[in-house]
Amino acid sequence: MNTAGYKKTQKRVLNRRAVMWLGQTCNLRCQFCYFLERIESASHKEHPFMTLEKAKAICSCLFDFYHNNAIDIQGGEPTLYKEILELTQHCRTIGLLPTLITNAILLSNRSRCSDLKAAGVRDLLISVHGLGDNYDSLVGVKGASKKQMKALENIIAEGIPFRFNCVLSKTTLPELMAISELAHSTGARVVNFITFNPFEDQHNSDKLSAGNVANYTDVKSYLTPVMDFLEDVGIECNVRYLPMCLAEERHRKNIYNFQQNPYDLHEWDYVSWSWTALKPQRMRDGELTKPIDRRTISLETMQFPVALKFATDAIQKLIRTYPGTRAPIEALYRDVSFVVNTVKQKLGKGVREENFYRENALVRTSQCDYCYSDKCKRCSVQEICDGFHGDYASIFGTDDARAIELGLKIYDPAYYISKQEKVVEEEDYDWAL
Ligand code: SF4
Repeated sequence: MNTAGYKKTQKRVLNRRAVMWLGQTCNLRCQFCYFLERIESASHKEHPFMTLEKAKAICSCLFDFYHNNAIDIQGGEPTLYKEILELTQHCRTIGLLPTLITNAILLSNRSRCSDLKAAGVRDLLISVHGLGDNYDSLVGVKGASKKQMKALENIIAEGIPFRFNCVLSKTTLPELMAISELAHSTGARVVNFITFNPFEDQHNSDKLSAGNVANYTDVKSYLTPVMDFLEDVGIECNVRYLPMCLAEERHRKNIYNFQQNPYDLHEWDYVSWSWTALKPQRMRDGELTKPIDRRTISLETMQFPVALKFATDAIQKLIRTYPGTRAPIEALYRDVSFVVNTVKQKLGKGVREENFYRENALVRTSQCDYCYSDKCKRCSVQEICDGFHGDYASIFGTDDARAIELGLKIYDPAYYISKQEKVVEEEDYDWAL
């Protein structure tokens, strides 16, 4: 495989990549899309694309205030944005290396592809959620897979680096090996598998059920040989939001829950993401909100009902877990550390950089009602595992959990992932290697 332009490392550092949403306008209708309602509703405030002027202002803030050095540009579908070339060029010029997260359908037109290359796109994260008829059915457009494969040919011909994203839908599981072989034969640098994690419009959706959602035991049986294959051929593989115990021990280095995501260079900086995810930064109309200080992201972005639930859950968990008065100091410290660190953050004192990200990870799991099984109490890695998304638990329960018993408690989120070889592009050698 061609490894020109990148190296691999086991060193883990916090990422510096931003994300932005131009507007929820798309040419596909993926069943599992986080923003499906906004995409289908032309009158939704986040539906139309924003102006180039606003998009540029967001990018400038990401570079100047948050010191991000890369950006994932999303739409909806960003190749539909008529000023995408100017925006890509602008990002390059100011020092934000631009990636498009794309279904690539429009790139079946070779000239669009070469224009994007000329504008300075760094790479593409292509959503390969299935193959052939299954893909067409998942994305709701006949002939879409054929166009995507044509686009892949064009992207290779233009020499644009690319990675794959693949949502683990029930009907996609039998295609995972073929998708991985496609990644290998076409030269994808990374393959990300994304398990059931319904955010935004999909959270608590009645469209998701055991009929179209894959349970984790099935996911494990299909993913295991696929992860072995990708390891053998040297392609970085990441699996997001899977309970650690639902992967073989040798594959846990590839599992990224919320606490691990900040150490993936291709994931998003929680601080700037907390700002770009706010509605004013995702709507065509209205002014941008002021940037958020990294010391207070968890406080400033947690809406009041979520904050209340977070506090109530923590107290209930404490009562359930430690009914007596002799709770181990270490465990007690764990449960109150969020509160202590939050106060410290407010005062701006004594918190390591990583802790801002870790606490923000806990807020994010709380927003999605992540929960644990009774078996998790015996698990050595509970502190670094998100457990089960609340929506998954409401469909399948949490019986899939299998406590990992190592004889000691693990508190370091990088415990497993520090054994993974990850891609670092040459522009990042000076700070990431
Ligand atoms: S905490 Fe629970 S879900 Fe996570 S690995 Fe342990 S047993 Fe599995």
